[in-house]
Amino acid sequence: MNHKCKPVKVGSTVVGGGSFTIWAGPCSVESLEQLRETANQVKKMGASGLRGGLFKLRTDPASFQGLGRDAFAIAAQVKKDVGLPFVSEVTDPRQIEAMLEVVDAFQVGSRNMHNYSLLKELSGQDKPILLKRGFSATFKEWMLAADYLIKGGNDQIILCERGIRTFETATRNTFDINAIALVKEATPFPILADPSHGTGIARLVPHVALAAAAAGADGLLIEVHPDPAHALSDGQQSLNFDEFAGLMDRMPKLLRALDREMSL
Ligand code: PEP
Ligand code: MN
Repeated sequence: MNHKCKPVKVGSTVVGGGSFTIWAGPCSVESLEQLRETANQVKKMGASGLRGGLFKLRTDPASFQGLGRDAFAIAAQVKKDVGLPFVSEVTDPRQIEAMLEVVDAFQVGSRNMHNYSLLKELSGQDKPILLKRGFSATFKEWMLAADYLIKGGNDQIILCERGIRTFETATRNTFDINAIALVKEATPFPILADPSHGTGIARLVPHVALAAAAAGADGLLIEVHPDPAHALSDGQQSLNFDEFAGLMDRMPKLLRALDREMSL
């Protein structure tokens, strides 16, 4: 298996190129305290990047939509204080310019993988793109979305498998582990596994995270919250600090068994 895929530099860290990197943080940025505490904890436990949603695309318009621009200052402050690169989802081309100051990589969410005008705009940016798979996208459609970025001149692409919609309803999505191994075989790009959205159930997240690493993932994107029961989005699939610590204890042992290492 090709672990030596194209390395993509994201702020002070590198995704791919043989390393295994953990990106962790809350689904939504909720407050300075919440983001700072989470960033400090996940960094201490071995994460090399921070994730946190500013603009949220929610299925129900009555649900929390994210703090948006009001939280840019929070993200910038925490990034500086804690010293972790930061990735966040861009949901609209009009956000790009202002977000350039705040994010080290743009996340394209599952709902926007088919938004070709957004992909075209991002293809002109000199920032890495974390391209999530659409929840109903075939592997081919996902690769063609990546081609939009490449065609416009941006090949700093990190793919992310986050689960697809199937007939199964016992879990939020069906994590497509096949896609991890296939990306490693068929593309030069690193791939992160997102078992949080892939399962939708916090208890299952560590198991699927370990399985994704065994299948060849270059790292993880994991939702972590200080108090998942009171999270403003995706609390049911967010790990608390103890649960995240448990995963971070087991992951290096698995990677060693695979002749791989976690990058810190
Ligand atoms: C997220 O990362 O919080 C998110 C909204 O993910 P997805 O686009 O995969 O649903
Ligand atoms: Mn989420």
